[in-house]
Amino acid sequence: MPGLEDLYREIILDHYRNPRNKGELPTPPAHRTEGMNPLCGDEISVFLVLDGVGESAIVTDIKIGGQGCSISQSSASMMSSAVKGKTVAQARELLKAFKAMMSIHETGLDGAEVVDEEPSTVKLGDLEALRGVVKFPVRIKCATLAWNTMAQGIDEIVSGAGA
Ligand code: ZN
Repeated sequence: MPGLEDLYREIILDHYRNPRNKGELPTPPAHRTEGMNPLCGDEISVFLVLDGVGESAIVTDIKIGGQGCSISQSSASMMSSAVKGKTVAQARELLKAFKAMMSIHETGLDGAEVVDEEPSTVKLGDLEALRGVVKFPVRIKCATLAWNTMAQGIDEIVSGAGA
């Protein structure tokens, strides 16, 4: 019987081989944000189109450019699927939930380990597949690269810096 780890590996490979929302968008109207993970050599461009103002603006389109390892690429693909059609506030919630999942084993040095699986209303879906990455701390930056770049892009747009 295939275990959860096999299922997770399949999901990651599927997103790596068939990346969702891969490509570029014309700027403007899209806003482009670059992200890099020098530790691994991952590079990413996140193209965002928001409709509306502030936290209730909707991510109407998102495309992902760049290149990198399978973790960074599949995470970017999953991130793009997860936030497309969502509001800025919802995208931030996803980011928070994803980062919480990624840092579960990072905070525990002083013995005050944060308890896993805190109840959340945010459904991570396929993103759960990246849960195994926490076992490889050096890859966490690969997995969070697309998320941080997306968040930076949203901040730039919302603050008006990206218009
Ligand atoms: Zn990487």
